[in-house]
Amino acid sequence: MMKSVNPASGEVVQTYEIYSGKGVEKIINSVDKNWHHWRSTSFFHRSQLMQNLSSLLKTKKEDLARLMALEMGKVIKEGIAEIEKCAWVCDYYAQNAESFLENEIISTDASHSFVSYQPLGTVLGVMPWNFPFWQVFRFAAPTIMAGNTAVLKHASNVPGCAMAIEELFREAGFPDNVFRTLLIGSNLVEAVIKHPAVKAVSLTGSTPAGKSVAAIAGSVLKKCVLELGGSDPYLILKDADLKSAAKICVAGRLLNAGQSCIGAKRFIVIDDVYPEFLEYFTYEMINAQFGDPCDPEITMGPMARTDLRDELHRQVLDSVNKGAEVLIGGEIPNRNGAFYPPTILEYVKPGMPAYEEELFGPVAAVIRVENTEEAVRVANDSEFGLGAAVFTKNENKGENIAEFQLQAGCCFVNDFVKSDPRMPFGGIKGSGFGRELSTHGIKEFMNVKTVVVK
Ligand code: NAP
Repeated sequence: MMKSVNPASGEVVQTYEIYSGKGVEKIINSVDKNWHHWRSTSFFHRSQLMQNLSSLLKTKKEDLARLMALEMGKVIKEGIAEIEKCAWVCDYYAQNAESFLENEIISTDASHSFVSYQPLGTVLGVMPWNFPFWQVFRFAAPTIMAGNTAVLKHASNVPGCAMAIEELFREAGFPDNVFRTLLIGSNLVEAVIKHPAVKAVSLTGSTPAGKSVAAIAGSVLKKCVLELGGSDPYLILKDADLKSAAKICVAGRLLNAGQSCIGAKRFIVIDDVYPEFLEYFTYEMINAQFGDPCDPEITMGPMARTDLRDELHRQVLDSVNKGAEVLIGGEIPNRNGAFYPPTILEYVKPGMPAYEEELFGPVAAVIRVENTEEAVRVANDSEFGLGAAVFTKNENKGENIAEFQLQAGCCFVNDFVKSDPRMPFGGIKGSGFGRELSTHGIKEFMNVKTVVVK
């Protein structure tokens, strides 16, 4: 049985039957069979269906946001914004897939030569619960517009979202087996990757899950894209607008109750401005209201599960044992649900979980450094390389640090890191490889075919 549990109360919302191995086999075979038809449909046809899907998402955004609030604790306002972003990515690829995948004529000594982008077949998406719609749509919209078909193995704590997504595709008019959800645990992922009809896999999730999926995909020589964890550094330079930086940093830390791969996680502050920045930062963190995600006054809901909350608390306690100091928060509130308060840890040093590991919740690790050079060194002193941000009034300096000095896939100046359908998204080092979104994302699951006519 798979269960939806309301993280604000601990109550079971609904239970779902897990699919059997035979059931999964049947679905994959149907999706594969349908691929042979789907790949030959026109971009115009696919784009009309994708736009229907976008309209449906917009119409149902309140209901879908409520489903996320009940299943994983996202506040309604953020849930609505997430669904609107899903509609955007559908529209974006409906409008641009054809031009992104146009043949590229290359002049050679043959009479005619070009590069053609051909779909691979059925692609498996293994997805996390933290943005239960966005993560799936940013994988599925380009993949399906490109002429592939898709099967989804969603995180086990969001079966309601997983089934709702399959239903949205159906309601939008897509043929039954273009997108299918598989309600399975991670124990069946290996069999699905190894199924001959599955041609590639995209995993968004933790670094251990990424290593396991990459090893399985490697063993059968199938392409994989890995969007993994992050510990994004935010550099506060001497000449930053400190008040505005503090506001942006807190927004970047507390979004989705701190459970974002590109959440702001390590705040690296230059000594001269440390006290002033910390004062603004603390003020913003204290002001965040946490509670029932369905209450419109609330800015931050519970974490998605109590085991995740307990693991975060373990990281806080271990860091404190090794010399970090709790400035605010740091205690599990005495109430039902997976709540954790906004927390600031000062004096964070190498060797502490708050320095070395991903803090997947509303805990900010603050690190004091002497100068910009040291700030960059500390920022890059991480196994991760997903996002990074730098705050300075000197745009040229910020741009130089972002472009050339920070080791990360997405670097922002004076803003928190966000994904955008028009820009590539992904990481380096332990944060994975491959890219989603933009023209780069849609080409990941294509046969980049050379055609030469003598
Ligand atoms: P997770 O535990 O790794 O789970 C992600 C997905 O992988 C789930 O569907 C999970 O299934 C499955 N899974 C877990 N272990 C597996 C294994 N050994 N083999 C095959 N599949 C496996 O991660 P999460 O807790 O859901 O999500 C949080 C993590 O995702 C964080 O580290 C976060 O930074 C990362 N993330 C990255 C991005 C990005 O774009 N880079 C975006 C969002 C989240 P079950 O639920 O059934 O275990």
